[in-house]
Amino acid sequence: MKTLRLIPAIALAGLLFSYTAIAQNYQAAIDNAYSKYKDLKEGANADYIKELANVDPDIYGIAIVTTDGKVYSKGDLSSRVSIQSISKVFTLAKILEEQGPQAIMDKIGVDATGLRFNSIVAIELQKGKEINPLVNPGAIAAVSLINGADSAAKWRNIQQVHNEFAGSTLLVNGPVYVSEAGDNLRNQAIAHLLLAYGRMYFDPVQATDVYTKQCALNVNAKDLAVMAATLANGGTNPVTKKKVVSPETAAYTMSVMETAGLYDNAGQWLFKTGVPAKSGVGGGIIAAVPGKFGIAVISPPLDAAGNSVKAQRTIEAIIAELKANPNLVMPK
Ligand code: GLU
Repeated sequence: MKTLRLIPAIALAGLLFSYTAIAQNYQAAIDNAYSKYKDLKEGANADYIKELANVDPDIYGIAIVTTDGKVYSKGDLSSRVSIQSISKVFTLAKILEEQGPQAIMDKIGVDATGLRFNSIVAIELQKGKEINPLVNPGAIAAVSLINGADSAAKWRNIQQVHNEFAGSTLLVNGPVYVSEAGDNLRNQAIAHLLLAYGRMYFDPVQATDVYTKQCALNVNAKDLAVMAATLANGGTNPVTKKKVVSPETAAYTMSVMETAGLYDNAGQWLFKTGVPAKSGVGGGIIAAVPGKFGIAVISPPLDAAGNSVKAQRTIEAIIAELKANPNLVMPK
């Protein structure tokens, strides 16, 4: 009888022990990567958007949010930077949710361009077709496609989905928005070229403006990690418990992140880590380990492809230490 009563107690102790061990693993992996890379000085802030050159290059924050809503972090969690290209992920998710995957396949495309994120040649080569929603042409086309009768309605839709993914109200970084909006002739050209090919679904000037505002949403590393964790958790925010998008939408979104999340270095990234990720020229990178956790790192200095140097190294190191590459399977 006594032995029978002991069994649940032993099982509970075992569960608690394994939970504590996992928690320690997450924190230790973050701490180790932080000490290893905190003094790394490679790369430079983006400066083609003038305001980004003024951002403190020493901001360095790491956060992990698990699919059961636990948060682990280190470094600067209070500084916010503009989300930039990472926003493309959430606008894509919203279109998938509202219009289905066929709309993305038919009207934008899902193949990597293999060229820079703001390449005009990429549009020209494909006559406006097969423009991935995670590089500028596809992302501006996505803003033109998202539900909303006018630019204010499109913006509300975009803002709402970002807030739901983050579980908090994200604000626009005014100086970054003004700085980019006054100087985004290249993105305007991209939008007009798409229009010429019949691949822009709203006024190109207004679509580019809403796109620019979306890129200026301010986030810290924890906001980004919750957003990534919502994807990793099948589209339900693990902190607020709100269903933001369906598991199918989350899966389609993460597939595009695998294909083109780190611009023209997406193949190298996937080879090294196996995880869907997305970077932004503001210095953030998110990665989602399906079913397990979302991770985000902010550090503004970028490499030549436009990806944060320290964020890439940090996430790579943490994924390796936690053996979290989804393709890494131990034989039975
Ligand atoms: N707003 C930026 C642009 O359009 C986003 C680029 C990025 O983060 O890759 O150039």
